[in-house]
Amino acid sequence: MARVLIIGAGGVGQVVAHKCAQVPEVFTDICLASRTVSKCDKIAAQIKRPIKTAQVDADNVPQLVSLIKDYKPDLVMNIALPYQDLHIMDACLETGVDYLDTANYEPPEEAKFCYKWQWEYQERFKEKGIMALLGSGFDPGVTNVFTAWALKKHFDKIDELDIIDANAGNHGQPFATNFNPEINIREVTAKGKYFDNGSWVETDPLSVRKSFDFPEGIGPMNIYLMYHEELESIVKHFKIDKARFWMTFSDNYLNHLKVLQNVGMTRIDPVKYNGVDIVPLQFLKALLPDPASLGPLTTGRTCIGCLIKGTKDGKPKQYYIYNICDHKSCYEEVQSQAISYTTGVPAMIGAMMMLTNKWRGKGVFNMEQFDPEPFMEKLNIHGLPWKEVIL
Ligand code: NDP
Repeated sequence: MARVLIIGAGGVGQVVAHKCAQVPEVFTDICLASRTVSKCDKIAAQIKRPIKTAQVDADNVPQLVSLIKDYKPDLVMNIALPYQDLHIMDACLETGVDYLDTANYEPPEEAKFCYKWQWEYQERFKEKGIMALLGSGFDPGVTNVFTAWALKKHFDKIDELDIIDANAGNHGQPFATNFNPEINIREVTAKGKYFDNGSWVETDPLSVRKSFDFPEGIGPMNIYLMYHEELESIVKHFKIDKARFWMTFSDNYLNHLKVLQNVGMTRIDPVKYNGVDIVPLQFLKALLPDPASLGPLTTGRTCIGCLIKGTKDGKPKQYYIYNICDHKSCYEEVQSQAISYTTGVPAMIGAMMMLTNKWRGKGVFNMEQFDPEPFMEKLNIHGLPWKEVIL
């Protein structure tokens, strides 16, 4: 029996609203709030159960506080953008309400995401007796839980962790991003970084590439080394020698991105145009397809998983755990493509873990700090079944 306030009515927010509504025994009351209330109303109209909607500017802490005091949720789910994380955490602190998100904080003026800012809330959340669960999407999120599961069930020690994210789907558009274009392009154009024997090694953006043979008929695809936020928390909480993150990109995507970068369209600093300050990447976002609009157009599958090398009972072991998700099936269920689906389902399950006290604590937590078992069980039930292979 819980009231939940979902903030953000984009591609992922839509899935979170649908999936929470499918579990009325946990989510008895749902309110979906966002900057543009018409987007909340559109989503509410798709859902069979009645859910409330509200308008809120999540960068305005007093507005958030007043919405929270008015609706009285047990949990606030931040499904807006990373820029809103600290404002929503401030509002949760002021009102004494638990917090969950799917992406770590990133200052708008600098493409540099990291957990430092949110981990700094640890003592304040603890003192207030409330809980924050950070990064409850797929990657970060499920990938952290997969790693914790591997350590619990299959390894005494992990030597190498490779998180590999493939979108083997097609939306038929010349160029589009699967989630918020601004966040996506900032992430992809940043330097790569991986963890190796206690230190971080930097690489030029998308300069390290190899081929990986994906399971279940997806086949070989090029994967590119990138820096991803779960690496930071996983190597903090577990002793792992080497940890890397890889993502697939089509040649078409990379060619478009290269041209956009070369002409300055991915810049995040303001440029004067006709006397007005314009941030080129924000302008580009306005031109690109809204990721939420890709739902009906996307076919194919995603495959995200962890390839792990380590030891068990003194013997070397290699293991792969993954989920495959079909874009069309997601659209049939919740009118969204698989990228939003694979993020929204774990957000709902993370909320369920908190609201049913399966995962509980005072302070700020990452996903791998809790028992992976109940979460893994719910993934199978709520649309993201996983498979594991001993190699
Ligand atoms: P969208 O851009 O589709 O949606 C973002 C939503 O947040 C929009 O409805 C937007 O409102 C709203 N919003 C933005 N700013 C504010 C504000 N100040 N106040 C209130 N609402 C606001 O993004 P996605 O749904 O694709 O992504 C949502 C989150 O999920 C992002 O943080 C992204 O990084 C994360 N993500 C995490 C993944 C994971 O696996 N962990 C994978 C993919 C995404 P408006 O419509 O008015 O613009």
